[in-house]
Amino acid sequence: MKTTDTQKHIDALRPPVVVVMGHIDHGKSTLLDYIRETKIAEGEAGGITQHMSAYEVLHKAKDEKEHKVTFIDTPGHEAFQALRMRGARVADVAILVVSAEDGVKPQTLEALKCIQEQKIPYIVAINKIDKPSANVERTRQSLAENEIYVEGYGGNVPVVAISAKTGEGVGELLDMVFLVSELAELKASHSGKAEGIVIESNLDPKKGVSATLIIKNGTLKKGEFLAAGESFAPVRIMEDFLGKKIDEATFSSPVKIIGWDKLVKAGSEFKTYDTKNEALAYVAKEAADAKVLEKQTEAKNKADALAAALQAATDGSGEITTIPLIVKADTSGSLEAIIYEIGKIKAERVSIQIIEEAVGSIGEGDVRLASANKNTIIVGFNTKIDTPAKNLADRDDVKINVFDIIYKLTDWLKEIIKERTPKVLVDEITGTSKIMRIFSKTKDKQIIGGKVENGFLIVGEMIKVMRRESEIGTGRVRGLQSQKRDTDEVKEGSEFGAMVESKIEIAPGDRLVSFRTVEK
Ligand code: GDP
Repeated sequence: MKTTDTQKHIDALRPPVVVVMGHIDHGKSTLLDYIRETKIAEGEAGGITQHMSAYEVLHKAKDEKEHKVTFIDTPGHEAFQALRMRGARVADVAILVVSAEDGVKPQTLEALKCIQEQKIPYIVAINKIDKPSANVERTRQSLAENEIYVEGYGGNVPVVAISAKTGEGVGELLDMVFLVSELAELKASHSGKAEGIVIESNLDPKKGVSATLIIKNGTLKKGEFLAAGESFAPVRIMEDFLGKKIDEATFSSPVKIIGWDKLVKAGSEFKTYDTKNEALAYVAKEAADAKVLEKQTEAKNKADALAAALQAATDGSGEITTIPLIVKADTSGSLEAIIYEIGKIKAERVSIQIIEEAVGSIGEGDVRLASANKNTIIVGFNTKIDTPAKNLADRDDVKINVFDIIYKLTDWLKEIIKERTPKVLVDEITGTSKIMRIFSKTKDKQIIGGKVENGFLIVGEMIKVMRRESEIGTGRVRGLQSQKRDTDEVKEGSEFGAMVESKIEIAPGDRLVSFRTVEK
């Protein structure tokens, strides 16, 4: 495509937005910390008073020019998961961290899947090479075994060996980030209203609701109005990632806007308007759309529950237990990720019903809601339990548990599900016997002779009488004899005489299938 002068004027190369992903403990946070601490000019870095979920660095690449790179700095990849669910593409490049000690692990593959779904280029960072037990070669092999073919190992995925601790190789990694993003030709324009994606939203008791945005295009100016999902904010208090007040920001920069009317869902797109009315009109439309969606989801959930109940009724798997759940989390990003992970839990005969999900500490209101719904559980993620709430929970015996790792939360829930799964009665076959003779019959008692073909025949157990392939009736073993002696059980291969109580007239050639009913 031929670029005209005006286009050249408008389009500019946009700095890449980078996300770091990988298995837990493979060094994502250490890498992000190392880059933050070394690549943000002294003095400035000291200005970082609070953790923000994204930061910008300047990196001098091989062309001797300084290039900007924006990193999404979230604990784990929870927030990114939430963004992925909404189909938001916030990152342009991903770094997949793999420990040189451990190689590829389940979450490495989960992260890779996530990256591939987003269709963004990625770089593998083999980390912890300073450790004595690190083995880069074996890690490359482990990558190849998992179909991640890195450069020099049958593929073209860029790979850099690093130590997030000593910093070895990190410069090279940033060079690679720059190279990969250059190939992706990220373009944006300074002119025009800013748009982009909300990556986090928090409620501060003093300051109110804030949200961190990544601008993907245009310029955001003080005095404008923002709309994202069902939330609205005037651009009055705008801060850069260092917490400095700014009047203007442009693409790839993370900014924090304080003063939203309500929490913003992580992953929501934001739009900017000149007037408050335009912004509110957008919010109203989003709210209306959300309501329609909610109705549809509700209808679908009802239909699913009905189908599950019907299924349970037809296959005899019994009743279904509902576990009402209240979920509280520190940020909207982690909240969404938790809801998403809970949604993936598969349980038979148990349905989890989230009756409330919100950002913030666990308060008295939550406990009161839980007390009103029998069996309700409250789970928190990186949040506190208010003292009055704790007291009330103790008094009302409400179960509360707070976690700092999502999979621990879901593992715990799975345990609870197991405990609360209603028992079903299942017939367990204990053996089959073949009937050879009928000695006598009085009323509904018969004396028969036969041989145990497999398993056991045990006094007191129920039997099914089978004639050829069909069950013709049931009965119970009342007495057993083997080798002319009374006994309680006869083993496979032994002949026996038995007294069976049954309304069915048993005939030679029939088979008795003995079974016991157990709870499962
Ligand atoms: P995350 O769960 O992926 O964020 O992992 P962390 O960054 O928390 O790292 C897990 C552990 O590995 C921490 O104890 C780190 O200090 C350590 N670690 C991370 N990177 C390196 C590295 O390059 N070298 C060494 N020796 N330790 C590392």
